[in-house]
Amino acid sequence: MILTGATIITVDPQRRIFRRGGLVVQNDRIVAVGPEDEVLAAHPGQERVALDGKLIIPGLVDTHVHQAQAMIRECADDMALIQWLCQRVWVLQGAYDHEDARVSARLCIAEMLRSGTTTFLESGLAHRYGFEGVAEVVRDSGIRACLSKKVMDISTYATQDNAMPVGLRETRAESLLTTLEIFDRWNGAADGRIRVWFGPRTPGGVSPELYREMVAEARARGMGMTMHLAEVEADRRFLRETYQQSPMEFARSVGLVGPDVVLVHMVWLGEEDIRILAETGTHVSHNPSSNSKLASGVCPVPRLLAAGVNVALGCDGGPSNNTYDLVEEMKLAAVIHKAVSLDPTVVPAETVLEMATINGARALRWDDQIGSLEVGKKADLVVVDLDRPHLAPALNPVSALVYAATGADVESVMVDGRWVVRHGELLTIDAARAVAEARERAQRLYAATGIDPGPRWPVL
Ligand SMILES: [Zn+2]
Repeated sequence: MILTGATIITVDPQRRIFRRGGLVVQNDRIVAVGPEDEVLAAHPGQERVALDGKLIIPGLVDTHVHQAQAMIRECADDMALIQWLCQRVWVLQGAYDHEDARVSARLCIAEMLRSGTTTFLESGLAHRYGFEGVAEVVRDSGIRACLSKKVMDISTYATQDNAMPVGLRETRAESLLTTLEIFDRWNGAADGRIRVWFGPRTPGGVSPELYREMVAEARARGMGMTMHLAEVEADRRFLRETYQQSPMEFARSVGLVGPDVVLVHMVWLGEEDIRILAETGTHVSHNPSSNSKLASGVCPVPRLLAAGVNVALGCDGGPSNNTYDLVEEMKLAAVIHKAVSLDPTVVPAETVLEMATINGARALRWDDQIGSLEVGKKADLVVVDLDRPHLAPALNPVSALVYAATGADVESVMVDGRWVVRHGELLTIDAARAVAEARERAQRLYAATGIDPGPRWPVL
């Protein structure tokens, strides 16, 4: 099939944009991309899909997602992180069964696909969620994912007084050893769309011995690893008091550095931490909405970029964002560092689009296949409708996308050469059913745990 008439932002090494481009998809691959007339002349007789007035971009890569949290998105607004986690999020998640996790994953993926995310990194599925059910939703939805499984052996969050609910506690066997079995079953499944990673808990939740054992198992198999780190100031203080180390000194001491590691949030960093990140090629997932809403602080993205660190973008979860809309996340990533540094030239729109595409692909070590629209790569792409009042005149399509668009402007989405969203309609998930099931399951969870998601105003 040949896509014609659209503006194409390739994010290829030359960062070429075709005003009126053509893109040929054969099976799961891009076999041609360039000016429409040249592509048409070189590929006669193909099925034509006219996309005049539209914008084609590479499929977006969300490098930090909690699928299980989609269903409890409004459970803990306007709360401090420790209360947010210990009194709301953990309590609800600790009551999940396999079907809750499956329903939440379906809702989450429906939202991601509908808003242009074609690949995501799941931050760490708990044992109680049932990996199989979630992986089946990923497989059937058509999305691409690195699914990490939680690893832990200590049931506290940084300090002993914030103990984890019993329902979420896991032993070394349940977390580490189970992941190895899952890896054998699921890594490379769904035509290679699924990869299995480790998602260790943040320091304080995992002993240094288990971190080291996990890193050795990961490296023996080529698995990726992702972890929350230096999210709040208390994380940095905990590492200083317990191990006399900075966040990255600790990460390096247990082997959690390198191109196979994605560290998430990374708000509370010193110069030494940034130097270690750059030297080791460790990736950073920047989550500005979550860090803002939870008042964690602001990740020093301009300094990371200046040091040569690969920074990608992530939405985090339902209770911290509260959406999985990476288009919307791009705008905050582009504006927040300007406000903090009083410098409007930092983190320009083009840089943010790189973070949401090719940098994300690099972080997942998938940039040989995805992250840009180039011949030989997978046909993972997003069609955005530019003919809308809030996007017009869209003479600079990068600006329109980053500063003015939201995920609701996504019109069609292709993953692996297959339309998964077309003309605004999800083709692989029954969206109405996904919403209804999530609402019913969420109500049951709130009733079972005695948590009231609000509103705080009288409801008559
Ligand atoms: Zn997170």
